Amino acid sequence: MEIIRDNNWLKFRLETIWTKHFPDVALKNNVFVRFGRKSKTRLGSITLGRRNTENPNTIITINGYFIDESIPEFVVDAVLSHELTHYAQGFCSPHEQAFRHPHRGGVVKNEMTGRGLDAILKAEKKWIKENWPNYIKKNS
Ligand SMILES: [Zn+2]
Repeated sequence: MEIIRDNNWLKFRLETIWTKHFPDVALKNNVFVRFGRKSKTRLGSITLGRRNTENPNTIITINGYFIDESIPEFVVDAVLSHELTHYAQGFCSPHEQAFRHPHRGGVVKNEMTGRGLDAILKAEKKWIKENWPNYIKKNS
């Protein structure tokens, strides 16, 4: 059966990763995940919704190019895991902020490695390095 990639599919991928690799990380607010605009450089992002509300929503946005099934699922999973790591470490989430900066000192990589996501991270980096420039050339 063909799997159609839409926001529900993204939600399912996120929930699968969350259950398997982040079971200790509580869901403390509404977390939404969606495909955003097509981007050559930004694979994913995490933001916090209206800050004047008591418990703002978290919004995870994934590169619109990733709707395309020729982008391997592990690439999408790795990007979702990266954003979920930010959530776990208290960036754009109600969790206590664990570090001063979201990326400095390899904190994302360390967290992902510690959670059994090292292989997927390596596979993603390799795929992006070998395929992304050509993909963009063909599709933009
Ligand atoms: Zn990041």
